[in-house]
Amino acid sequence: MDLLRAPLLGRLLRWRHARTLFQIPLLLLSVLMILHGFFGPSLAPKNLATTITWVHFRGALVLVLLVAGNFFCLACPFVLVRDFARRFFRPVRNFPRYLRNKWLSVSLLIAGLFVYELFDLWSRPWWTAFLIAFYFVAALVVDGFFKHASFCKFVCPIGQFNFLASTLSPLEVKVRDQAVCTSCRTKDCIRGRRDPVSPLVVIQRGCELALFQPRKVGNIDCTFCLDCVQACPHDNVGILARVPASELTTDAMRSGVGIFSRRKDLAMLSLLFVFGALLNAFAMVSPVYAVESWLAQMMNVTHEAPVLGVLFVVALIVEPVVLLGVAVWLTRLSIDKSPISLLVRYSYSLVPLGFGIWLAHYSFHFLTGLYTFIPVMQSAAAELGWQFLGTPLWRLTGLPVSTVQGLEYGFIFLGLLGSLLVSYRLAEEDSPVKPMRAFVPWAGVAVILFAAAVWLLSQPMEMRGTMLGG
Ligand code: SF4
Ligand code: SF4
Repeated sequence: MDLLRAPLLGRLLRWRHARTLFQIPLLLLSVLMILHGFFGPSLAPKNLATTITWVHFRGALVLVLLVAGNFFCLACPFVLVRDFARRFFRPVRNFPRYLRNKWLSVSLLIAGLFVYELFDLWSRPWWTAFLIAFYFVAALVVDGFFKHASFCKFVCPIGQFNFLASTLSPLEVKVRDQAVCTSCRTKDCIRGRRDPVSPLVVIQRGCELALFQPRKVGNIDCTFCLDCVQACPHDNVGILARVPASELTTDAMRSGVGIFSRRKDLAMLSLLFVFGALLNAFAMVSPVYAVESWLAQMMNVTHEAPVLGVLFVVALIVEPVVLLGVAVWLTRLSIDKSPISLLVRYSYSLVPLGFGIWLAHYSFHFLTGLYTFIPVMQSAAAELGWQFLGTPLWRLTGLPVSTVQGLEYGFIFLGLLGSLLVSYRLAEEDSPVKPMRAFVPWAGVAVILFAAAVWLLSQPMEMRGTMLGG
């Protein structure tokens, strides 16, 4: 299946200005959210900035990643503003070599999770609006200084989340026929299409994320921008169907990414994706308050920051070190590789479970608060004196918790299944005769994390960002 050959949607996606068409509504919505966040009501469930960001955007993002691919990066409004600014000033520097990895995004993702919990961002419209505005400025500054898509590839925490989650997506931007690429002389998909009269002038840019189509494997680092589709003179790039997670089971050399088993930074990002999912879910269930007050008493502190710091250290360092340390030690009994290389290689097997937990968590907020944007929009319009949307229907919320809970367990179970399959494939490759010996320790880790996620999601959750949650 090739989405670009689908009757109507394919035609739309192949259109040269398709990306801009998707970006403009999101840009307008972002501006609306920023304005409402700064100047609208300070109660989160009545404000567009908090409702759309924390209830709808995150839920829609993970669901689209699950059923299609990284289409939110395609429609990214930050890149639209950046592209507009680049008409006036063109960056000439390359992103610093020592930062061309995922370590910076790993740090930013941890900082983002910490700030989100410490300042309860879901309940603060002003700070949410500030965060959105800050994002626009950050993308402008980074890509104003540095060439290509440095912000997307090395900085943006949302982008890194999308890259990892899209390894589970059923669609991939991919060449249709490798033989066409072999005979291709221009390689425009990466170099960009040049003006035949003035070859120094690029009339259609190639891949800004350094992914050379014929050697690209999977969705990591791909923003679905479709520049390669536009640039290829042979119409040889499509959006093709594939088996989700298949890219996690191969260790091929990937254009623009390298070899997975040698990417410690990417492996750390994957582990953060998994353990961060549990931490983020833990922070919104009732037992967290008991743990936090117990910790505060033990530490004799009144401020939340040190308590949260301890929780983060336990969830993101102690817990992974213990669990993965035991798994690596057991794997080494059957595979003669260094502990670090085993850790890096098998980290990717946990990504499906991590995605299952994010899916369960975000879709919970999304579905239980599905209609909440309607009264918030009505109220925002009424504040401006526009009554045509009617009186705000504050009773509109979303689907019942009991209905959504079944779906949540389904997502986590699907994630567990994916992790078991990926780890078995890796074990089979490492130890073709006795794969179970390498598989069992990693299956054990996945099952323990799965059990933790099931327990977490069975706890009473805060209805963050909706009227039910206050
Ligand atoms: S994708 Fe298109 S431009 Fe790139 S190598 Fe293949 S045929 Fe050439
Ligand atoms: S140009 Fe690069 S990032 Fe954009 S869709 Fe093609 S491969 Fe992905």
